[in-house]
Amino acid sequence: MDAEQTLAEVAKEVAACQKCALYHSRKKAVPGEGPSQCEIMFIGEGPGFYENEQGRPFVGAAGKFLDELLAQAGLKREDVWITNIVKCRPPGNRDPLPEEVGTCSQYLERQIRAVDPSIIITLGRHSMAKYMPGAKITSVHCQMLKVGERYLIAMFHPAAALHQASLKPALLADFGKLPELLEQARKGLGRDRQAPKSEEPPEADFKQLGLF
Ligand code: URA
Ligand code: SF4
Repeated sequence: MDAEQTLAEVAKEVAACQKCALYHSRKKAVPGEGPSQCEIMFIGEGPGFYENEQGRPFVGAAGKFLDELLAQAGLKREDVWITNIVKCRPPGNRDPLPEEVGTCSQYLERQIRAVDPSIIITLGRHSMAKYMPGAKITSVHCQMLKVGERYLIAMFHPAAALHQASLKPALLADFGKLPELLEQARKGLGRDRQAPKSEEPPEADFKQLGLF
């Protein structure tokens, strides 16, 4: 199965999943979305009201701010993968329970393996806690941590910055560093020479220019 098929299969399973109690309160499951292979994957906490209505991640107020943050990094939503640690909305937007996160993680793990991002960015403390137990977001945000074949970076949740204005400049600054962090990650993973061959100038051009 290629990446696209795996992601479609996960989305189909998520839509019908009844493995944890959150399926009772969902209207639409939110598997996540993005190109089947891309370098950056964002992992938020869980669908909220609008996400549950539309079946898409980060489409409410936090999502609007995420779009602004991506623009700060010179990125568009279509360039990245966006998902959550739980795929169904916790009732009343309560925090997901550890057993719900644990049960749902099989879907996330399959998505990560399929997309194969160089960088995973956790948004907020719940998704950070899943990958960096015990870490404090105020001290580790924006630091790169190599885990196997990728880097992990924790960032504040966009919704937290909407509630607490003082976090906004920190989050904007962190996203501003993303192009540089991506360069570092590519180098660290030996993925810095991945330009498709077709983008290299054809040999004949050099000859015509009299360079060889
Ligand atoms: N907050 C999240 O953590 N995820 C979403 O998809 C939307 C808001
Ligand atoms: Fe299944 Fe995850 Fe939804 Fe729970 S949150 S019902 S595990 S898809």
